[in-house]
Amino acid sequence: MLYQRSSTLFAEAEQVIPGGVNSPVRAFKAVGGTPIFVKSAKGAYLYDEDGNRLIDYINSWGPMILGHAHEPVVTAITERAQLGTSFGMPTELETKIAQLAISMVPNVDKIRFVNSGTEACMSAIRLARGYTKRDKIIKFAGCYHGHSDSFLIQAGSGAITFGAPNSPGVTQGTAKDTLLANYNDVENVKALFDANPNEIAAIIVEPVAGNMGCVPPINGFLEQLRTLCDANGTLLIFDEVMTGFRLAKGGVQELFNIKADIVCFGKVIGGGLPVGAFAARNEIMNFLAPLGPVYQAGTLSGNPLAMAAGLAMLQELNDNPEVFSRLEEKTAYLEKGIRKVLTDNEIVFTINRVGSMISVHFDEHPVVDFQTAKNGDNETFKKFFHGLLNEGVYIAPSAYETWFITDALSYEDLDFTINAVNKVAKTL
Ligand SMILES: *Cc1c(COP(=O)(O)O)cnc(C)c1O
Repeated sequence: MLYQRSSTLFAEAEQVIPGGVNSPVRAFKAVGGTPIFVKSAKGAYLYDEDGNRLIDYINSWGPMILGHAHEPVVTAITERAQLGTSFGMPTELETKIAQLAISMVPNVDKIRFVNSGTEACMSAIRLARGYTKRDKIIKFAGCYHGHSDSFLIQAGSGAITFGAPNSPGVTQGTAKDTLLANYNDVENVKALFDANPNEIAAIIVEPVAGNMGCVPPINGFLEQLRTLCDANGTLLIFDEVMTGFRLAKGGVQELFNIKADIVCFGKVIGGGLPVGAFAARNEIMNFLAPLGPVYQAGTLSGNPLAMAAGLAMLQELNDNPEVFSRLEEKTAYLEKGIRKVLTDNEIVFTINRVGSMISVHFDEHPVVDFQTAKNGDNETFKKFFHGLLNEGVYIAPSAYETWFITDALSYEDLDFTINAVNKVAKTL
């Protein structure tokens, strides 16, 4: 396939936008080459500026779970736009989407809408700190909670004591309040509690990790986090920005029957518009301004276009819960097909999957945390990525990303993809 016009557009973008993109992973740095510029998308397909059609396995990093330009969502946005696009005043729409979201998600009484997953996680942490009157949080290496300062932390020299900034601009002062643990390692979390008694406000976790590829929680991991939080007066925050309204109506809380204290949302909840949200039981949510002392605000929060898109999306999922089992079946079919062709071609690999989140790692060992995710052979991944792209199949341009399966994919699309993987596997 030719990507001439995308290359030209990228060169122009680089002149006026840092790296030519408004979010780094889009720049293809991890795989080389130049990013593809999208012209339009419909259902399971992207149409680029060179006229290529690609089967999309990213789906805007998750939101387009029912496919691109999904009719009810597009209609809701278009109709709403005629009525005015922003007021900075309450609308009935906000109550409606709040009621529906709360009815779908277990263990929450109230929800506050923001504009991104980053904002949701940042606000959830502030709320947890305000509520517990403690400063420190525990996060897991390889989990992503957006780009706010508290989360841009890597293991420090004394990983057991506190983290270090992993981006210039994040201060040591901020870093010292974020403790870093290994995913799926409860002993590690226990040690952090022992070293910081009565100081930990919250554990924030991707209950199924999706930002180091897909990494499922091992048996008992989430349950033990729940127990540790209860024993220590610490809040358990599920960052369900990726998993919420994707793995089940009620997200991972429902899927694995585990109760979180605060839940963060983004991606699917906005139906493709910029929306995030965080939710909890009354006791916690009532700590937020204007009811309580913890400040949080937003000029465009609850924006009518965004709420209309989100409401239409949630209604679709709520009214058609068979979507979740259909996604499971389609993704299982894809997994089985890819496993077979990679095995037949004697490629060393591991596939992780939960529901409609799946990732292929070029390493034979189980991928259970950030360390094991890093063992994957990136040179093989690069060839895999570009090979698939050349066949018209678009997966994420980084080995640390999950594929997001959309219900718009047909079994023909899946067969086409498995066939493409087979072709590419012969070149690896
Ligand atoms: C995408 C993501 C975020 C950040 O959301 P943005 O809308 O990109 O700010 C936070 N947490 C998780 C788990 C995510 O996947």
